[in-house]
Amino acid sequence: MTTPLPSTMKALQLLGLNQLVSTELPLPVPKAGEVLIQTMASTICTSDLHDIQQNPFGIALPKVLGHEGSGVVVQCGSGVTGLSVGTRVASHPVVPCGYCAECHRGFGHLCLNMGHLGIDRDGTFAEYYIQRADRVRVLPKEIPFPLGALLEPVANCLQAIARAGDVQGRVVLVVGDGPFGNIIARLAIRAGAARVLVAGREPFRLGMIPGAEIVNNPPVGSVDVAILAVSSSEAFSTCLSALRKRGRLVVFSLLKDPVPVDLFALHVAEQEIVGCCNDEERMDESLACLLDPKLALSQLITHQIPFENWADAFHLARNRHDIALKVALTFN
Ligand SMILES: [Zn+2]
Ligand SMILES: [Zn+2]
Repeated sequence: MTTPLPSTMKALQLLGLNQLVSTELPLPVPKAGEVLIQTMASTICTSDLHDIQQNPFGIALPKVLGHEGSGVVVQCGSGVTGLSVGTRVASHPVVPCGYCAECHRGFGHLCLNMGHLGIDRDGTFAEYYIQRADRVRVLPKEIPFPLGALLEPVANCLQAIARAGDVQGRVVLVVGDGPFGNIIARLAIRAGAARVLVAGREPFRLGMIPGAEIVNNPPVGSVDVAILAVSSSEAFSTCLSALRKRGRLVVFSLLKDPVPVDLFALHVAEQEIVGCCNDEERMDESLACLLDPKLALSQLITHQIPFENWADAFHLARNRHDIALKVALTFN
């Protein structure tokens, strides 16, 4: 037996810059191939904080923000297979169109007509949300909902490691001590890096990365791979100068403004700078990471805040880097 669905839901809508409000919206209805998910947890991403303050992606407002979610399927559109009412799930926010040139060559994460929860459609900071069924995975019962909400950030971080190339036996520098830097450092260790160095500013956050070495000023020309995991041009310079010859810099975090690059130095050292955005179908690998006790990714979630106290949760995520890493909104 299933309980009847309500006709409305509470959701956090962005109305304008710095105007995130709790509002009552009609319950969305899943179309063919989509599922309606009753949200159980949704984690706050750094990009949500950027969207609220600067809207760098030009989100058409109003929009329900949030893209890291997990919950229970409560309604299936026609043609959905493998998921049914009551299935515990986690979702990925990216919705590739499936027919553009990039999708055709297997780069759905670079889709030319990409949909994305919390950007072009309503997201997960709501009691219910809709996602296309192929972007949803069954969540094993061993993974609690808040941890399940990390499906996409962990998949993104796996992409950073993939873009870094073979890190086995190499020296990897991660610049940025936030949730992404933390996850990337853990994954680099798991991938067999000889040393993983992390540069950051917040002692609490730097202390949350087991097995990584904290470096304030990475020596020039000392690392095989540098991963930019904070949106700072200064951090970009740190990454670039730390690279040894033939080193590779992975631009994981976004920098809105252009930065100077010394192409002569890059040329003579045969270095590479590569971008990294979203992930190439790494949901299943991400689930395996969430289940991996050695990675202990649940350590990332420092706070679980009931949805009604959302303002506290955003305050923690934005301002309390001294005690918070990943903040999860929870629903009951
Ligand atoms: Zn995110
Ligand atoms: Zn496409």
